[in-house]
Amino acid sequence: MHELTKDCIFCKIVRGEIPSKKVYENEYVLAFDDIAPQAPVHTLIVPKEHVVNLEDNPSPELLAHLFDAVHTVAEIKGVAESGYRVVQNNGKDAGQTVSHLHVHIFGGRSFGEGMV
Ligand code: AMP
Ligand code: ZN
Repeated sequence: MHELTKDCIFCKIVRGEIPSKKVYENEYVLAFDDIAPQAPVHTLIVPKEHVVNLEDNPSPELLAHLFDAVHTVAEIKGVAESGYRVVQNNGKDAGQTVSHLHVHIFGGRSFGEGMV
């Protein structure tokens, strides 16, 4: 196994080597609740394939699968109607702490109009 994926925490979750609170899964992506939630709903969606972030040339197909899952996860978590925020961090200045591409879904409260 490649070193990058062997040690990657989200690859380990995808492989079932460390536990997660699974929300949704299909052939391409896995969604699970964030371990340190910053909102009543805070779920992560990751591609099953290891990609660092948007600077790592993810294929358009992979990105489509990632974003296609967002609405499904919002439905499952009960925030599709009330609304939710999607955040995706890339690199140091964005505060990306896990080097495996992921989308955050925040919901269950109002975030107001500011972005940062
Ligand atoms: P980011 O700062 O965008 O890289 O987000 C990484 C997120 O992964 C943070 O919100 C962490 O709380 C979350 N996280 C780290 N380890 C785990 C884990 N084992 N299970 C679930 N979420 C995790
Ligand atoms: Zn990984």
